[in-house]
This record gives sequence, structure tokens and C-alpha cells, in this order.
Amino acid sequence: MKTDMDRKVRDFLGARTAKIFADVLAIETVGDLLRHYPRRYLKKGELTPFDELEVGDQATVNGRVKKVTVRSLDTKAEIPLTDVQKWARRKTLTKVVVTDGRRDLELAFFNQPWLATKLTPGTAALFWGEVTMFRDIMQLKSPGTEILDEEDLSEAEIERRARPFRPLYPATAKLPTATIERSVKIVLDSLDEGLEDPIPDLILRNEKLLSLREALQKVHLPDTEKDIRDAQHRFRFEEALVMQTILAQRRAVTDALNAIPRPRTEGGMLDEFDQRLPFELTAGQAEVGEEIFADLARPHPMHRLLQGEVGSGKTVVALRAMLSVVDSGGQAVLLAPTEVLATQHHKTLTKMLGDLAEEGMLGGAERATRVGLLTGSLGAAARRTAMLDAASGAAGIVVGTHALLEDKVQFADLGLVVVDEQHRFGVEQRAALSQKSGENTPHVLVMTATPIPRTVAMTVFGDLSVSTLTELPAGRSPIQSSVVPAKEKPDWLQRAWARVREEVGKGHQAYVVCPRIGDDVKNAADEEGEFVAGEEEKAGGKKQQARPPISVMQVAEALAEILHDLRVEILHGRLPAEEKDAVMSRFAAGEVDVLIATTVIEVGVDVPNASTMVIMDADRFGISQLHQLRGRVGRGRVPGLCLLVTDLWAGSKSYGRLDAVASTTDGFELSRIDLETRREGDVLGVAQSGRRSSLKLLSVLRDEDIIFAARHVANSIVSVDAELAEYPALRSFVRSALESETTEYLEKT
Ligand code: ADP
Ligand code: MG
Repeated sequence: MKTDMDRKVRDFLGARTAKIFADVLAIETVGDLLRHYPRRYLKKGELTPFDELEVGDQATVNGRVKKVTVRSLDTKAEIPLTDVQKWARRKTLTKVVVTDGRRDLELAFFNQPWLATKLTPGTAALFWGEVTMFRDIMQLKSPGTEILDEEDLSEAEIERRARPFRPLYPATAKLPTATIERSVKIVLDSLDEGLEDPIPDLILRNEKLLSLREALQKVHLPDTEKDIRDAQHRFRFEEALVMQTILAQRRAVTDALNAIPRPRTEGGMLDEFDQRLPFELTAGQAEVGEEIFADLARPHPMHRLLQGEVGSGKTVVALRAMLSVVDSGGQAVLLAPTEVLATQHHKTLTKMLGDLAEEGMLGGAERATRVGLLTGSLGAAARRTAMLDAASGAAGIVVGTHALLEDKVQFADLGLVVVDEQHRFGVEQRAALSQKSGENTPHVLVMTATPIPRTVAMTVFGDLSVSTLTELPAGRSPIQSSVVPAKEKPDWLQRAWARVREEVGKGHQAYVVCPRIGDDVKNAADEEGEFVAGEEEKAGGKKQQARPPISVMQVAEALAEILHDLRVEILHGRLPAEEKDAVMSRFAAGEVDVLIATTVIEVGVDVPNASTMVIMDADRFGISQLHQLRGRVGRGRVPGLCLLVTDLWAGSKSYGRLDAVASTTDGFELSRIDLETRREGDVLGVAQSGRRSSLKLLSVLRDEDIIFAARHVANSIVSVDAELAEYPALRSFVRSALESETTEYLEKT
């Protein structure tokens, strides 16, 4: 269905302008343009508070000129303002200080000395460009300018500037906000009333929402603050409705799938295992266990997300679910994101099961099974055995990495898939596994240690049921964390190494984590896919990332001296698999004192004797990631210590994030801080580059009420009309949202 919103902006704005829109903002259709909402509004006469600016922002500010100077770039001599015209062809730097009434902002213009005659002190103007930091002073470099109190304006321009609010659009130097504003007005004025509205009439009325046409008018050309609020509310609802409709459709599909019920049986391995457990299950573990057993007994696939802090004991929960499925005749797989983890899980499960995992062996329990391991780096013979065991059903439980998903791997009767650390597995992989169990879909349990606020879970994992482990097993030692500002206080870093030495002296072990491997220029992220590269960049600090992150190799070299008498080894993703395993085993066996590693150790690695972690360039990691990393220490009875080393100065915003990590061990709290300091797109795991996200105004953190209301509406629509036959406009929206990145991410969860 083609609508007005699908028409090309070219038909309205002319080819040249249309090309700029396409090149700069990827705006091609009327819909693209009209849904490029203003980021902010400037109330007539209002100045932009400069303290809201952040380095890296594309900002438009309204300021008043305080001071102007022009200098020759060659001689650095100041040029009298009366002479600037003569300098038109020479190299100059014009510095303009503007103020918002409280703070100053510096503007730097190269080779445009005549600006000095226009931007005279007292002039109010709009400036737009990227916010940078130059010698500790916030600057806009060669910003676009629009003087506000200019004379001799066209009538249309006078009318535009007289409006009570000026929309400020996400803009660039090539496409200033004023041009966007003019273009939007042209397009809006020439559209007729009957725009196809993705929100059905009845819902507009029930929810008291503006129609699409009204809302577009008010979001772009508001007369009052209420106009802005109402219009934004409507668009937020629309975004939430589209997203919740997709999720409702997905739930409908899942509900229609068949699974073999795997009811809990008495007197099997699970009961035996429970009797032998060396500890009491926490109340949470027992409760979640019951939820899972109930799901497994149904003829439709379980689709459950298990959230729980690092160390909250998810593995036991998963193992009990797997045993229950094996008891009822099926097989279970446990997928891990890395080989190190898969290997570790395999060892852990085998150890926990004891003779229950020794089926067919001398000394095996009466009812027993085998736990297979299948990773990419297995030798041919081991691989063949593992595959045979999976295919014959001899291995009730198979642990592995995505090597498990290869076509050749077959199962006798796959009943349950447990995915550890969900965000590294996509829906395609889930689908690949489903295909291994014929017409019936396996039950799926995904586990994550990254706590997710409720609305985010609802948005991102809207088709999953969620269980949460909130308590840690008793007897866990607390982790103490501190930030070490290595540049400001170099002796603190020395003291950090002294602490490592002391801990080793007490018979404990330590990790030193680095953001990069450093045996070439690539960073660890590339090979290991785990380093949250450029989180800082996304948060706006591009220009501050001059030095490459500290590497494992650099630290290894430095520590070879500082800790010369300790047993220090390195671990990273580019080591051959056997070597990784060997290093990990030596560390686990206490034969290594200090392990210098990348984030390969982030998830799941469990060495209770490790008491200390030093994280180098800690500011290069995300908050949640730091929290994950530090969960590797303090796992036994030994109190944990985590030192977050950074070159940042104590006043900076990113230092504040490290402080937050140091001051709490509440994962939910940290994940909230983490999410708040990121942009919305990142909350949903969307890369900032590339296609636009379909969430522009909706905040999954703030707009809880809207999301709930939209979910309710979406459910009622989908329950009677899953194909949206009666709602063509909504359907076409859903389709285009499905093509956008946000939902690409949804697809992957
Ligand atoms: P995570 O949730 O991070 O995967 P694990 O499953 O690795 O946590 O559990 C961390 C440690 O706690 C393991 O050594 C495990 O054996 C132990 N553990 C799990 N449940 C309990 C419990 N109820 N009481 C005591 N220790 C437990
Ligand atoms: Mg775990």
C-alpha cells in the first residue's frame, strides 16, 4: 500500500536538496522526513544552557556574542577588527566567545575573518556543529551560524522566526536545522488531511491520542508546550504499539508451536542429584526450578529467560532442568559463548554429577547419563565420539559452543536447549537448534547475568517469560572495589601491584584484565567479540580516545619486572585452544599466581581461590561488563578485591561511572545506571551506525506506562487479527520496523 508518506521528498524539495537529505541523513521519503523529529525546541528568546552540552554532541545552541578576536594563523598576531576584510584570503582564526548568560562557549572559525564584523558583541545567533574540547575549553569548531536579529529578511523567514518555538533537528553542517525546518514546512503544507494512520481510530479515541496529521503538525510547528507533549506522546505510543505488536505476533507463533511435554518424573537422576547436593538450594533457585518444571510439562515450547547476578547459582538451576528432561527420556544441550566457558561448564557439570555422569562406566550410578563436550577445536576422534553420543542419545547432556549448531550434529531426541549468556546467540542459531528436533521444538532456557530492568526485558525479550534469582547463596564473601586513578596518583598503581603481591603471599590468585591483546593493532573486540568497543565513543567522547587501550602484551612486559618472582601467565582469545585450556587449568589448579587476560574470562570462569582483579583502562569497558568481570573474584570464602585502573581525571563523567561500579555491587542498580548513560539505541543493542532505529522518541526506561498500555492494545489486536488484515497501515509499519535495526536485534534474542 503506497501512501503519501511513501512519496519521495524529491517531489517537494527539488533534486539538489533531496540529494543532500539522502546523503546526509538517509532521508528519502516524506515519511522519513516527517519522522525526523526535532531533538529539542528553542523557545523564542531562550538561550541554550551550555552546561547541557556534551563533547561529541552535534549541538545547536543559541548564544549571545561576548567577545570576538581574529588572529593571523601565521604570525599569531591579533588583527584589528577594522582590518579583517583585508585578510579574507589569508589564514586566520576567528575566536568568538558566546554566552548563555551563565557559562561561556568558544567558537573557532578558520579563514572566515569577515564573521567578526557580523558576530559583534551583543548579537544573538544560532550555532550548530560538533562539541569538542580544546585545552579544557568547550568549543564548537567552524559551526554553522544563523544570526537571529538580522534585518532584511524575507517574509517567510520573518514568519518562521516569529514562531513561538523553533524546532532544533538532529542536523549536520551540510544540513543545518534551519534547512530541515523549512523543508518540513514545505512538505507538511502540501500534504492533505487523509494521512494513513498506523494507530487505529478506535485506539486514538480510547487512548486520547492525536491523529497522525495533527501530531506531525504539532511536533514540527508547535504553538505551545502542550502541543509538543501531546505530539511526542502520540509518537511514543505509536513506537511502542509497533514494537509490542511485533512481540505479540511472535508470541502467537511460539504458542502455536508444538513441543514434547517433559514432565518431571519421580526417582530419577534429578532426585538423586538433589539428595546429594552439598548445599541447600536458595529459595529463589527452588522456586525458579518449579516454574521451569511446569513449563517443561506443557505441549508448547518453554521460552524462558533466567536472570541472576553473577554467582547467584544459575548453573544448578539449569542442570536440574536438564536432568529432569533426561529423566523423561530427552536430551539437553548447554550452549556457551566461548570455548573456555564451554570447557569449564563441561567440567563443572561432570564434577557436580559425579557418578551420575558415568553411564556405562565401571562405578557409574545405576541411573546415569553422559555429558558430552562439542567445541570447534576438538580433535577429530574426540569430535566423532561426541557426535556419536549426541546422535545415539548416549549423551543425555551435551555442552558446547556454536559448533553444536552445525548441520552435521544430530541428536536422538533434543528436548531442552539452555543458552548461557543469551546476548551472544541469535535467533538464527535458536532456529538451527530447533530444526534438530524435527516437528517438535525444544524447550528453551536462556540465562543472563546482565540484569535488565522490567520494561527493557518486556521490550527486548517480550516473547520470553522471565525468572529472576535475586539472592546470592549464603556464605558469599563481599567484593570490595576501588578506582585507581593511575595518571593522577601513579603511586596508587604501584600500591595496586603491591596488593596483588600480598594476596599471592596469602596463597590467593589474581586476574589482571586488559581491553586489548596487543600482538598487533587489532583490538581484542575483533577476535573475541566481547569488548564493548567505543561505549565511551557512543557516549560522546570520541575525541578523547587518542591512546590505544592498554594491552595484555604491554602489561605482561611491565609485570615481568614488577612481579618477577610470581608465576604470571597470559590468556586471550587468539591463543590456540589447547593452550587456552592448559593456561586455564593451571590457573584453576593454583599453579599460576597472576593471570593477565582479555575479557575471555568475563563470564562464568569459576576459580574460588582468585581473590583479586585489577582491570586496566577500566573506563574502556561498559558498566555491566565491569560488574561481570569482577564477579570472577570473591567466589569462594575469600573476600574479593577489584581495582579499576584508569587514566581519567577524577572529575570526568566516565570516572563517575567507575565510581558507581566501585560503590555498589547491586547489578540491577548498575544496569540502570549503565542504561541511563547510554543512548536509547544502545539500550536495545543497536549499533549507532547504519540504518535508523525505529525507536526515536520512546524510552524503554522512562516510558513504562506507555509501553504497558501499548502492549495491552497490541495483544487485543493480535489475538483477533494476527495478520493485521484489518489494519493495513499498522501492518506496513510493522513490516518496515522489522526491516530496521532495532528489531534486527529483537530477532536475535
Ligand atoms: P552463576 O549464576 O554466575 O552462573 P554459578 O552457577 O556459577 O553462578 O554459581 C556460583 C557458585 O555458587 C558455584 O560454585 C556453585 O556451586 C555455588 N552455588 C550455587 N548454588 C548454591 C547454593 N544454593 N548454596 C551455596 N552455593 C551455591
Ligand atoms: Mg554462570
